[in-house]
Amino acid sequence: MKNIGILGSTGSIGTQTLEVIRELNGERPGSFRVTALACGSSVEKMAAQAREFGVRLLCTGTKEGAERVKELLADMDPVVLWGDEGLKELAGSDMDVLVTAVVGMKGIAPTLEAIKKGTDIALANKETLVAAGEIVMREAKKRGVSILPVDSEHSAVFQCLRGIEPGELERIILTCSGGPFRTFPKEKLDSVTPEMALGHPTWRMGGKITVDSATLMNKGLEVIEASRLYSVGMKDIEVTVHPQSIVHSMIKTRDGAVLAQLGFPSMKLPIQYALTYPERLKCNVPALDFAKGLELTFEKPDLEKFPCLSLAIAAGEEGGTMPACMNAANEKAVKFFLEGAIRFTDIPKMVERAMGSHKTVRNPAAEEIIAVSLETYANAAL
Ligand code: NDP
Ligand code: MG
Repeated sequence: MKNIGILGSTGSIGTQTLEVIRELNGERPGSFRVTALACGSSVEKMAAQAREFGVRLLCTGTKEGAERVKELLADMDPVVLWGDEGLKELAGSDMDVLVTAVVGMKGIAPTLEAIKKGTDIALANKETLVAAGEIVMREAKKRGVSILPVDSEHSAVFQCLRGIEPGELERIILTCSGGPFRTFPKEKLDSVTPEMALGHPTWRMGGKITVDSATLMNKGLEVIEASRLYSVGMKDIEVTVHPQSIVHSMIKTRDGAVLAQLGFPSMKLPIQYALTYPERLKCNVPALDFAKGLELTFEKPDLEKFPCLSLAIAAGEEGGTMPACMNAANEKAVKFFLEGAIRFTDIPKMVERAMGSHKTVRNPAAEEIIAVSLETYANAAL
């Protein structure tokens, strides 16, 4: 039996993780036990999850939320933590795998805490690897902790890499749907509303990643994530726009072979693979039907139309604290955009401005990365 904790259990990845666990336990009763759940403000939803899965260690964003959860689950007598410290404490509790499905830089400290305790990480929260990738990978290696990717592209690469010897990998090719504005005129991007940006053509996800997908920042974050996860230089990672989202990513080996992982666009398989690795079990997603015909197209990303991709790559190449700065500025810009305070095209401007005024610290400690993230988030403006 594997004991699982989930940070962000009420979000898109969190709820799908519980769906996967429900289905796996249906196939093989008792395979997984959920030991800890954390959410921000969706306390009723988390309380219902805790009741269904019998979870007694919980955390919410606020003290009031924690009080409400205690009321809702009084008969279960749960331990309910709250706030950033609570999240860290929960992440450090005893479990086999922690699914990090909170959104944003909030994931950094609890992920590091879990690694310190020797817990394997099923990593959805890409912002953690973007801001603190070198530290995360170093600490994980030191403690023999596995970082199992949940992000579909990184899971695809992970799957392709099975059986590939170190030194045989030459290039990673990340696919990108192109987002909702792939064919939208560049000069009209100024008029994009939050509602338009939240309509992703192939994936259903939380608000922040959906906007990141529309600006192509998501792909930029993923290039950094891939470089840190697989120790591959930024220049050895290529992005190709593949609107059908069937090829989840590819690797090229030394001999020129290209290996890909294909599938119906669903996060359930990457989530399940991270939980059951190295085993492959039945997964409840529609199969590809090649008999019906399948069109797979690939094109170059338009870097002029989507400057966020280049900004993120530049931050990843610079390294040190720059990716943390870029990530925090983007997080703030997306928040402003969703609140209607800035335009869609202001998002890269805010990121560029923050990066322009940041002095990179080399080989930063985790505390410095968190400090840069918080400071940039507090000060980032148009
Ligand atoms: P959502 O916005 O759907 O979910 C975010 C989760 O974080 C919610 O459970 C939310 O709780 C929780 N949360 C917010 N604030 C806090 C807090 N203070 N303490 C604890 N939990 C908190 O996001 P997604 O599930 O879409 O994405 C999660 C992460 O996974 C992101 O980093 C994203 O980039 C990554 N990812 C997502 C993919 C997807 O398909 N969705 C694909 C690949 C990566 P509440 O409901 O209470 O607000
Ligand atoms: Mg992805």
